[in-house]
Amino acid sequence: MKCIDCGKDSSKKDRAVSGGRCNSCYHAFVTDPLEDGLTDIAIKSAVDTVSSNGTLYFSKDNLRYQLQRKLNKKIKLCSIALVVLVVIFIVLLVFAFIARGAFVVLTLVSAATLLVPLVAKARFKTNISKLPALVDKWLVVNPHEKLLTAEKSQANTDGVSTANLDDISFDRVLICERDETVDFFLSNLFHFHYSCPVLGGSGYPKDIYEDMLRRLKQNPNVKVFLLHDHSPAGIAFARRIKTDPKWFGGQRYTIVDLGLNGEQKKLFKDMTFRFVDRNKKVKETAEVALFAPAALIGLCGAAINEGVPFDLVTSVAAAASGSNGYG
Ligand SMILES: [Zn+2]
Repeated sequence: MKCIDCGKDSSKKDRAVSGGRCNSCYHAFVTDPLEDGLTDIAIKSAVDTVSSNGTLYFSKDNLRYQLQRKLNKKIKLCSIALVVLVVIFIVLLVFAFIARGAFVVLTLVSAATLLVPLVAKARFKTNISKLPALVDKWLVVNPHEKLLTAEKSQANTDGVSTANLDDISFDRVLICERDETVDFFLSNLFHFHYSCPVLGGSGYPKDIYEDMLRRLKQNPNVKVFLLHDHSPAGIAFARRIKTDPKWFGGQRYTIVDLGLNGEQKKLFKDMTFRFVDRNKKVKETAEVALFAPAALIGLCGAAINEGVPFDLVTSVAAAASGSNGYG
């Protein structure tokens, strides 16, 4: 495995001898590729992606989902390999019946090889369930200045709270279900780049939300954009903002539910959680954090400019192609 610091290759034996460190620069290794399904270089590349090479703030969840995308690709490859091997097995089986001889041995060998992708697939699925612990371990050894922590979020939102509200546009607003999504957007200056204040559905940031909400509601043409998880809590959030008079209920405001909703599944397939609801039906949820930061900023910016939900955005390719989502 290659060291992320000096690029030198270390074998498993080298790593064992040097106490899990690179024997050239002593930087600590975090992963065991066989155990974790990922190398240190793969995680480093995921960090570069979610931080857009160190230009955007990201959350632990953003990194976890980026690593899940990598493991999902491996699972897909295993599935393809399995299909190919099954076809080979069936062909050999037919020949074994007709010609016998060596084909019988070959059929048995090909049956045994079916186990390889099956076992690998099961392993990668286990690796996905262990990603939260791996991400924590990674960030202890390799801290990142753009990782959003409670302290950094606080400092970044304080900057917004002390800004003069008279300088802010009240033509549109983005309201997020989760406070950490608000932190993400404010830290990455989304409100500034898209002239769009960002608020949390729980009344966040506390110091400014009431004043801001009052000013927004004074504009009858204000456009309200909602962003939430695809989950029961996300649906309840969207309903509350639309119907609660404390928010935008009871009057005719333009409210656009950006997502995530059930009909937008193409945006988040393979990245969902399954749970069993009260009626014992299996349902799926998907979190906003599954999008890589640049992609979310590009998608959100394009959706707000076009005034449509995520799945109807047409200019997103152009918006998300910018390295940090700002085009
Ligand atoms: Zn090294």
